[in-house]
Amino acid sequence: MGDTFTSASHRYFRHDAGFSLDDLVYNSAVPIYACNREGVITFYNAAAVVLWGRTPDVKKDRWSGAYKMYYSDGSELPLEQSPTALAATGMNVLVEAEVIIERPDGTIKKVLSFPRAIRNAAGQVVGAHTTLIDITEKASLEERQAFLSSIIASSDDAIVSKSLEGIITSWNIGAERLFGYAAEEVIGKSITILIPKSRLSEEEYILGQIRKGEKVDHYQTVRLNKYGKELLVSLTVSPIKDKQGRLIGASKIARDISDEVKVQNAIYQYTRDLEALNSISQTISSKLDVQSTLQQVTDASREVTGAAYGTFFYNLVDEDGTANIRFTVSGYPEEAAKHLPIPRDTALLHPTFNGTEIVRSDDITKDPRYGQNQPFYGMPGGHPQVVSYLAAPVVSAKGVVMGALFLGHPEPGKFSLHHESLISNITAQAAVALDNSRLFEEVKALNAKKDEFIALASHELKTPLTSVYGYLQLLAKGPDSKMTSLFVDKGLKQLDKLNKLVSELLDVSKIEAGKLQFNTEFFDLNELLHETVEAFSFSINSHRIILDAQETPVYIKADKERIEQVIINFLSNAVKYSPDADRVWVGCKRKEGSVEISIKDKGIGLTPSQQQKIFTRFYRADNTSGISGLGIGLYLSREIVERHAGTIQLTSEYGKGSEFVISLPLPKN
Ligand code: ADP
Repeated sequence: MGDTFTSASHRYFRHDAGFSLDDLVYNSAVPIYACNREGVITFYNAAAVVLWGRTPDVKKDRWSGAYKMYYSDGSELPLEQSPTALAATGMNVLVEAEVIIERPDGTIKKVLSFPRAIRNAAGQVVGAHTTLIDITEKASLEERQAFLSSIIASSDDAIVSKSLEGIITSWNIGAERLFGYAAEEVIGKSITILIPKSRLSEEEYILGQIRKGEKVDHYQTVRLNKYGKELLVSLTVSPIKDKQGRLIGASKIARDISDEVKVQNAIYQYTRDLEALNSISQTISSKLDVQSTLQQVTDASREVTGAAYGTFFYNLVDEDGTANIRFTVSGYPEEAAKHLPIPRDTALLHPTFNGTEIVRSDDITKDPRYGQNQPFYGMPGGHPQVVSYLAAPVVSAKGVVMGALFLGHPEPGKFSLHHESLISNITAQAAVALDNSRLFEEVKALNAKKDEFIALASHELKTPLTSVYGYLQLLAKGPDSKMTSLFVDKGLKQLDKLNKLVSELLDVSKIEAGKLQFNTEFFDLNELLHETVEAFSFSINSHRIILDAQETPVYIKADKERIEQVIINFLSNAVKYSPDADRVWVGCKRKEGSVEISIKDKGIGLTPSQQQKIFTRFYRADNTSGISGLGIGLYLSREIVERHAGTIQLTSEYGKGSEFVISLPLPKN
C-alpha cells in the first residue's frame, strides 16, 4: 500500500523514522481509512474501527466502514455520496464535511471528515484516503453553550456578570426589565449604581466571598432601579472562572421577591392568626368558669388585634331575673376600671348591646353617634383614651346577647377588616364557651342546692322522729296516767309535723309530675278562715293572731283542704319569720269579682332580690338560719293558688316585715 502514498512529506518521514509508515498509520489515534474508485475499502486503522463501532466487511462495505451516515442536519446521507465517495471518484477532490455516523449499537458520533484523493503516477484519481476527527464532545459543548446563552438572554431573572472589581460586564433582558437600565447604559459601570447607600457594605461582603471562590446563595436584600425605587430582591452570586480555573468575575442572578415577600408575610400573618385562634379556642373551651373564660377572651382579642385596651362586659340575666354583671379588662388596671361607670345603652353602644353588629372605627370621636349622650358626652372621666374602636356583641346560640367585647387604641386606624373578622370568630367561640360555663355553673349551683336540701330535709324529718322516739321511751318505762296523756299528745303533735312535711314533699313531686289533684266544692271561705285561725292560735303561744274578717259568708269554689293548707302555711311563716314580734294580722276582704286574704307580720322582712326568689322551689333566704323550713311551702302555695286562678302579692321591707295577699276569684253568678 506504501506506493499509493505520493506525498513528499510521507516519504520524508518514512525515510528518517526508521519504522514502518503502515505501523504508524495503523496505530494512530486518529481514525484513517482509504478506498478505491469503486468504494472498496483498501485500508483502515484500529481507531477507525473504534469510531465506526464495527470492523468493516471489506467484501461488502463500500465507501465507509460506518453503519449509517447522516448530514449534520440529521437527514440521511447515502454512502455513495459521502465525502470520501466524492473524493475517490474525483467528483470533488477537496471535500471536508461534518457528518454524523450511526454505530450498530445506535450511538451517534459527530465527525469531521477530511477525504483526500489518491492519484496514480499519471495523476489520475484512483481512490481516496480519509481522516476522521471525532467532534462529538466539542459539538455538544458548543451546543450547550449556545443553549445556555439563549437561556440567559431570554431569562426573566435578571442575570448580570461583573468583574472582580464590581464592573458590569453583561446585562440580560431580565436585568433590563427589573432594573430599568438598557445593557448599553450599564455595561462598564460599577454594580454599586444598583445598591442603596446604606447597603454598600454588602457589595464588599459579596465580592469578598467571590474572591474566596464562594457562592452567595439566596441573599435577600434591597436594590434600586433606574428610578430610585427600592426593590426587594433575592440574589445568588457565583464566581466565574476561566478555562484555567482562574477567577475572573462573578455572575449575579437577581429575582424580584416583593410579591413573594408580601404573600409570605400574609401567609405568616394568617398562620399566626390561625395559631392564635386555635390556642384561644383550646384554652377557652377547656375553661368552665365564666370569669376565666372572659379574661382569656379579652387578653387574646387584645393580642391578635394589637389593641391597647380590651374589656369584656358580661351581663346575663338569669332565668329568675337576676342580672349577672361581670367584667374583665386587659391592658388597663382592673382597680381603675372598677371606678368607671357600667356602659349604658347609648347611641354608640346600642348596636353592640343589641347584638346587631360589630362596630369598627378608625376614629370613634368622629363617629356621629359618639358623644351624644348624657352625662358624659363621650368617654367618662378616667377612661383610657380611645380613638381606634372595635366592639363586638357576644350572642348565644339562642340569640341572647350575653355581653360585649370592646377594644380600643389611642391612635387612629389601628383596626382592619381582618381584625374585625378575627374578633367575630373569637366572640362566636366565646359565646359557646360562655354558654357552657353558664350551664356548668348552673349545674354546680343546682347540685349544691340539692346537697343542701338533702341535709336540710334529713334534719327536718329527724327532729320530730327523735322527739317521738323519746316520748315512746318514756312511756315504755311504765304507766303514769298523768304524764301518759301529755307524752302521747306531744308525740302525736310531732307525728303531725312529720306527716305534714312528708305530705309537702309528696306534693312537690306530684307538682313535678303534673299529678297534683284538686277536689273542688263550694264552701264559705270566711268560715274556713275563722276555723283555721282559731285552730292555729291554739297550736302557738308566741303570737296573737288578730283577725279582721267580715261576718258575711264568702262562698268560693275550691279545694277546701288545699286552701286551708295555704292559709296555715302563710300563718306559720308569719309567726316563724317574726321571732321578735308577738302579733300577726290576718284580714279577709271581698273585692269586685274576688276575695283577698292578707297575712301581715312585723318580722325579718325580705330584700327586693329575695322577694323575687322566695316562690322558687327549695329557696330559703340567707337570713333564715336557726328557723326550720325546707323552702317548699311558698312554692306549693303559689301552685295551689294559681291553679285556682288566683294570685299572690307580696309587699315587704327588709327588717320591718311582710304582707302577703292571696286573691281568689269569686264564682260568677
Ligand atoms: P320555709 O319557710 O320552709 O323556708 P317557704 O317556701 O314557706 O319555706 O318560704 C320560703 C322562704 O321565704 C323562707 O325560707 C323565707 O326566707 C322566706 N319567707 C317566707 N315567708 C316569710 C315572711 N313572712 N317573712 C320573711 N321571710 C319569709
